[in-house]
Amino acid sequence: MLTIKNLSKTYADGTAALKGINLSLPTGMVGLLGPNGAGKSTLLRTLACIQSPDTGSIVFNGTNTLELPSALRDQLGYLPQYFGVYPNMSCFALLEYFAVLKGMTDKSSTRAQINELLELTNLKEVAKKKVTNFSGGMRQRFGIAQALLGNPNLIIMDEPTAGLDPAERDRLHDLLVTISKNKLVLLSTHIVEDIENLCHHVALINSGQIIEHGTVQSLITPLEGKVWLTNSSPGDKANILSKRYQYGRPYFRVHSDLAPDSTAKALAPTLQDRYFLELASKSVVEGEARHV
Ligand code: ADP
Ligand code: MG
Repeated sequence: MLTIKNLSKTYADGTAALKGINLSLPTGMVGLLGPNGAGKSTLLRTLACIQSPDTGSIVFNGTNTLELPSALRDQLGYLPQYFGVYPNMSCFALLEYFAVLKGMTDKSSTRAQINELLELTNLKEVAKKKVTNFSGGMRQRFGIAQALLGNPNLIIMDEPTAGLDPAERDRLHDLLVTISKNKLVLLSTHIVEDIENLCHHVALINSGQIIEHGTVQSLITPLEGKVWLTNSSPGDKANILSKRYQYGRPYFRVHSDLAPDSTAKALAPTLQDRYFLELASKSVVEGEARHV
């Protein structure tokens, strides 16, 4: 269990990236969903004790991690959003190197674990190849392998699916489901589908604030009976959640208490509907603020 209280961070240039974040997260796969610039990476770096907040506290399984970062690091695996430059080393050698940095001193058990992780991440056959030459998907899987070294209980992954093709993303989903048993895996993304595929629990973040969090179902339920599909552009009273074309004809997905027109069809709401609704209401508020 991870409990975050009143976490705030303003960067030196005045950007308020986190504005009083409060969250309690259970074990399992948890999603942090928000658009670019929402504050996801800032929050995850802070949770991984890589940067300090201005205010707030973080408690993981009874440990106050800001007071005792070393106690957290023993339990932490972290995959940053940008997994830097790779030295001229083979996949296996680089994992051995990361294991030393994590304080794993016993060579033979380290090697045994690296072999297991290579199997799990499907990198066994390229263990002797240089990571510099890996494809995007292979690098992400390598990043996950290094995050899992030392068998951590808290795994933080910042946009692990970004830049992957659909087949690579599916493989990564399989891997994440496998590793999330009895651990807290916190995964950030701006892709709603990642959350729908993987997470039972989700926190929506925008402009440095948690807008909503809970089980995915609890976020969808309030929209039951209020999402409609229509061909005609709805009036002011309805929120357009999304617009798509089929054979050149527009389709609007609309949020409205009542049917927006006589041809509108009721739809089962999705997490994407809730996400778009929250982002739309936020931009309305910002739009109004700009006119003041
Ligand atoms: P996300 O990961 O959701 O895209 P970030 O946490 O990277 O969001 O960024 C949140 C906000 O903080 C953005 O406005 C971003 O420009 C700003 N930001 C991030 N890192 C820094 C930094 N080192 N210095 C100043 N501003 C930053
Ligand atoms: Mg980010």
